[in-house]
Amino acid sequence: MSWKIDSDIAEILKKGACLEGISRREALRLLKLEPGSREFYALLATADSISRRSFGNKGENHFHIGLNVAPCPMNCSFCSLTVKSGIFTEDIVFTEDQILAWAEQAETGKADALNLMTTGNFPFERLLEIGKMLKKNVSVPLVANTRDITHKEGEALLEAGFVGAYHAIRLGEGRDTPFKREKRIATIKVLKDVGLQWMNCVEPVGPEHSHEEIIDLMFLARRYGATYSGVMRRINFPQSPMERYGMISERELARLVAVSRLVMGDIPKAHCTHEPNTASLMAGANLLFPEVGSSPRDGKADTSQGRGHSLEQCRRLLTEMEWNPDKPSNCF
Ligand code: SF4
Repeated sequence: MSWKIDSDIAEILKKGACLEGISRREALRLLKLEPGSREFYALLATADSISRRSFGNKGENHFHIGLNVAPCPMNCSFCSLTVKSGIFTEDIVFTEDQILAWAEQAETGKADALNLMTTGNFPFERLLEIGKMLKKNVSVPLVANTRDITHKEGEALLEAGFVGAYHAIRLGEGRDTPFKREKRIATIKVLKDVGLQWMNCVEPVGPEHSHEEIIDLMFLARRYGATYSGVMRRINFPQSPMERYGMISERELARLVAVSRLVMGDIPKAHCTHEPNTASLMAGANLLFPEVGSSPRDGKADTSQGRGHSLEQCRRLLTEMEWNPDKPSNCF
């Protein structure tokens, strides 16, 4: 049995390993590799090795706090927090005491960032107030995850103490969501203009998405210089309208994480995967999201009582895969 790998693939991986980035055609080739083939595992090994080298083996935990639960009128098809899903019929806004307790828990557990997520209809002013309150009480960097914003709102986020914003152009944007791709890109430009870091993920990937559509978002992240941009698979909550498509496996997720790592080259400060899984931590990912409060993937109002992984679980996953969660973050 020969252990040599296809010479064309070896060339692409060599280029990827030099952190110069790979072309669309090359990324497409990697997405078509036979799962389980030697070339497939060579791809995972290459991405793993470049992340360990460039991120100094640091494992990142960016602690997600979903500030509110709502039947959101935007009705994105993959989200459980919608009017359409019928799961949540009343608004719940977690109390400041609860939010502060979660943030202190994150600080004690050495989380590298606090990602504050709101539904699309949450008052922006309230997000600013919560940001200011947390800034006074904890030292963990704040990242907003909210609706599209203007320059003025971007500056207000900075003033409130946020250092960055998570803002993804989702797969199926405009088809599975009511939002225009151009408007989402305009928000990324706002973040860049005002000096907020842009955090991204190619998401939420399902089996129905074409390779071209997925690659397009990977290259967009490279073009606009995301602080991190890995891959999240779509999780189908019970009765999700997307259930008919199924979900991709964690092995396939790991392949996408690896391809996106090679695409990002020397741009990112970290590389994320979601939901937390070990396969991706051997394929270039070094950043996990522990979760509390609301989650668009959960039928429970507080995901720490449902699907959400705790900070302790994420620290353990990272440590087991020999990423060090105690080193300082590379992101800020
Ligand atoms: S993804 Fe955001 S904007 Fe879309 S329905 Fe869910 S909470 Fe609303």
